[in-house]
Amino acid sequence: MASFTLHGISVSRGIAIGRAHLLTPATLDVKHYLIEQDQMEAEVARLKDAIRTVHGELQSIWRDLPKDAPAELAAFIDVHVLILSDPMLSEVPLNIIRKRYYNAEWALVTQIDELSAQFDEVEDPYLRERKADIQQVGERILKVLTGTATTIPTPSGSEEKISHMIVVAHDISPADMMQFRDRSFAGFVTDVGGQNSHTAIVARSLDIPAAVGMFNASALIDQDDWVIIDGDAGVVIVDPSPQVLEQYRERQARLIRERKKLSKLKKTPAITIDGTEIHLMANIELPDDCAAALDAGANGVGLFRSEFLFMGRTGYNNKLPTEDEQFESYRKAVVAMKGRPVTIRTLDIGADKPLDTAEQTALNPALGLRAIRFCLAEPQMFLIQLRAILRASAFGKVRLLVPMLSHAFEIDQTLVMIEQAKAQLRTANKRFDEAIEVGAMIEIPAAALTLPLFVKRLDFLSIGTNDLIQYTLAIDRVDHEVAHLYNPLHPAILYLLSNTIAIGAKHGVPVAVCGEMAGDTHLTRLLLGMGLREFSMHPSQLLPVKQEVLNSDLRLLVPQTKKILRAIEPRAITEGVERLAAL
Ligand code: PEP
Ligand code: MG
Repeated sequence: MASFTLHGISVSRGIAIGRAHLLTPATLDVKHYLIEQDQMEAEVARLKDAIRTVHGELQSIWRDLPKDAPAELAAFIDVHVLILSDPMLSEVPLNIIRKRYYNAEWALVTQIDELSAQFDEVEDPYLRERKADIQQVGERILKVLTGTATTIPTPSGSEEKISHMIVVAHDISPADMMQFRDRSFAGFVTDVGGQNSHTAIVARSLDIPAAVGMFNASALIDQDDWVIIDGDAGVVIVDPSPQVLEQYRERQARLIRERKKLSKLKKTPAITIDGTEIHLMANIELPDDCAAALDAGANGVGLFRSEFLFMGRTGYNNKLPTEDEQFESYRKAVVAMKGRPVTIRTLDIGADKPLDTAEQTALNPALGLRAIRFCLAEPQMFLIQLRAILRASAFGKVRLLVPMLSHAFEIDQTLVMIEQAKAQLRTANKRFDEAIEVGAMIEIPAAALTLPLFVKRLDFLSIGTNDLIQYTLAIDRVDHEVAHLYNPLHPAILYLLSNTIAIGAKHGVPVAVCGEMAGDTHLTRLLLGMGLREFSMHPSQLLPVKQEVLNSDLRLLVPQTKKILRAIEPRAITEGVERLAAL
């Protein structure tokens, strides 16, 4: 067969080369027939049984999740449990059997198609992508109904052979992804999905090359075809010529060599050529992520996104985590980091990270009652979290970070609440660090433009570039239709960043960057040139950033960065950044 190339969305980096292992969706094999009146209750019972079985399957996958499973996974499986329990899926198909005499599979597929069509109409791109979750749950029920039992047919052959297999499917559910991961497949290709699909998020955190949104890849690729995934470019090459295969094998080997080389830098202090020490910290979502942070040689945790402890709990426990539960998680992270600082961010819920128990009714959730606004509106819940964080500070160095502040009164109210939480702990005779440092995320332009309010009241600042870019450029960070406008090098962003770093330095208040920009090696020199001394990022980016730091000389970077900051034309800025790379 002739070689061909498919273009989709790159969701995780690296190169995978292997033979295709196709997963056929159960929907393809569905039989459609009408049942007799006297078979009706038996047919209804068959569907009910299948739904119950899937419930059990999801629960056991959830229970057996390995300790090092990506943090999001449990939440995603919870979403599937929720969908399964929703009457739209658990009851409507039963009524279709009763009213239209359809067989169980047909009734289920009819309802899934109906729900999918409704989702296609939804404007919000994040919600639109949840259509895939419904289809994945439906697929599971169908597989039980049709007796095509395991979703992961075991490929014949040795583990060695399996590890070179590339899973090609219309879609893969996060739960199935977990089973694949145990078998160490080399990569994933799916027809559907986008940057925000759950499959994409899990692939990224598993660090497995993947390409999604490939339209009809699963129809075009045959079982055992040779496949190359170029995860950096979002390209899949099917049946490559021997020359192309060779080129990619070389690239893959080079990437592996570079990774090995980087791993040697783990213990090397991050010091620039001119002798300036830089702090490289890790962003984590759950305490177990500390292992990856330490493994990458992080100087501490620069951002613990505590909201992940609160998300996806609806399936099994409709309540928010208690003070003790939270305390245990924070303490676990603090102890794991062995004396290194752990920056715990208070609940940053809302917009793209909804809390399942709080209904989102805001027309524009990114501008609504999210993060600190939500916490100040729910003082009892906030006090519980503050006490839990404070108690963890008795076990190591903890810093408290507050998201989305923009008004002086919000800072003041937050500080009052921290004092209140401290007083409660003193009364209860519970230990905590009296001198705990409190910092603010700078992620709203208004905050970056009124820094004197912040440096006067707080001990440190951390710039959340993900939201700062979203709010400054007025682009929804999860809307792919405006993704091309998401530009960290927009002069407005560079101004806000350099201004924040400079004002922090002037007042002796440490400033970090903890948004995605901190982990982008193309921007490391620019941030160093602006005077940034603390970077916090996904652990996988830490060593590549460290290598940039080790090769940087601030004496050369600072004057060149000043020139970039004076520029306004995009071309002048990108050329300036390219010149930094050559220094
Ligand atoms: C940010 O906004 O840059 C940030 C680090 O926080 P989050 O991505 O969790 O909003
Ligand atoms: Mg943010």
